[in-house]
Amino acid sequence: MKYLRMEDLDLAGKRVMIREDLNVPVSDGRVTSDARIRAALPTIQAALEQNAAVMLLSHLGRPTEGEPDPRYSLQPVAERLSELLGRPVRLQADWLAGIDVKPGEIVLCENVRFNTGEKKNDDGLARTMAGLCDIFVMDAFGTAHRAQASTEGIIRHAKVACAGPLLTRELEALHRALLEPERPMLAIVGGAKVSTKLTVLDTLLDKVDELIVGGGIANTFIAASGYDVGKSLYEPDLIHDAQRLIQKAHEAGGSIPIPRDVVVAKSFSADAKPLVRNVDEVAADEMILDIGPLTAVEYSEIIAGVGTIIWNGPVGVFEFPNFAAGTRAMAEAIERSSAFSLAGGGDTLAAIDQFGVTDAISYISTGGGAFLEFVEGKTLPAVAALEAVAS
Ligand code: ADP
Ligand code: MG
Repeated sequence: MKYLRMEDLDLAGKRVMIREDLNVPVSDGRVTSDARIRAALPTIQAALEQNAAVMLLSHLGRPTEGEPDPRYSLQPVAERLSELLGRPVRLQADWLAGIDVKPGEIVLCENVRFNTGEKKNDDGLARTMAGLCDIFVMDAFGTAHRAQASTEGIIRHAKVACAGPLLTRELEALHRALLEPERPMLAIVGGAKVSTKLTVLDTLLDKVDELIVGGGIANTFIAASGYDVGKSLYEPDLIHDAQRLIQKAHEAGGSIPIPRDVVVAKSFSADAKPLVRNVDEVAADEMILDIGPLTAVEYSEIIAGVGTIIWNGPVGVFEFPNFAAGTRAMAEAIERSSAFSLAGGGDTLAAIDQFGVTDAISYISTGGGAFLEFVEGKTLPAVAALEAVAS
């Protein structure tokens, strides 16, 4: 990966425009979770310390382009950011016409998605934005898989475009885990549906030494192995694909283990009674909601023996305490392991948080969609643009 890095540039006195991902939850005009704002702070502070004139870009929610809507205003973000930085942060509407900002000052530009042409990566819009700065810094990994005006087009038009520290760190961690992994390499892919992760499973099989599937995805693999899954969430249409993946793993000298025991219930609810069953004993009126205790031990042993772990997707309905043990066991096995571990995915992050293992994961990817696309081996458009302008 060859691109310019913000750390290598002299920002003093320059007009520096930084694309961050400040798309945070807002309720009643207040930011309810400021994790993304806090994640962006070091980049912003580094630019301010170098006496740059800092302009921040971000999207928030999904407003209709060309129709500025106060519900999607970044005003609450400006207020929270100002508290965290301990200095005023001005929010500027209609900033495409020009931004008045001096070295050492910071301006937050109103929601980029208010601008017509943002999503379809309009070239004129990208050019206008690029003209507002001397240096453009792309620091929003979570949007790097989208070719939009503020994430891709602007890079091609900026006088200088570079990757910010957050983006750099994220790409380096992904690189290390996926392209230069310490062997053996294990992927744990759980979650609801095979259909959303089929490409991920396929690409990972080419890279990893072991693949553990969990959740609704495992149910489809259990069905593909000839067992009855009762009322479980699974995808009959994808049984054939699951069989192909099992075959592919075999041909590569590995396997996709099928859980030997599972936790079932008669309904999908928090108070449903959990029952442990051998995988070949699931009744027609039962649904599989977690891996069983023997399987949890077996998978924990696999985890203990590898050098790299990539984790996306819970192995059970961890939101219900009765069906959280399997995912907890995976989280704790990763916590005990000394392997390089990389985790991503909205619900995976929620599980990691719930089980208190955040500090034990080597790297937690911030971008759900971008993370999966990187794992799939796709080139992220923003990164491709950064590389293109650097060469
Ligand atoms: P991520 O957001 O980490 O990529 P997914 O969105 O693919 O993960 O899947 C997470 C969801 O899958 C969780 O809400 C979880 O309850 C659900 N899930 C896990 N196992 C099962 C199962 N056996 N049956 C139904 N849903 C499941
Ligand atoms: Mg999810």
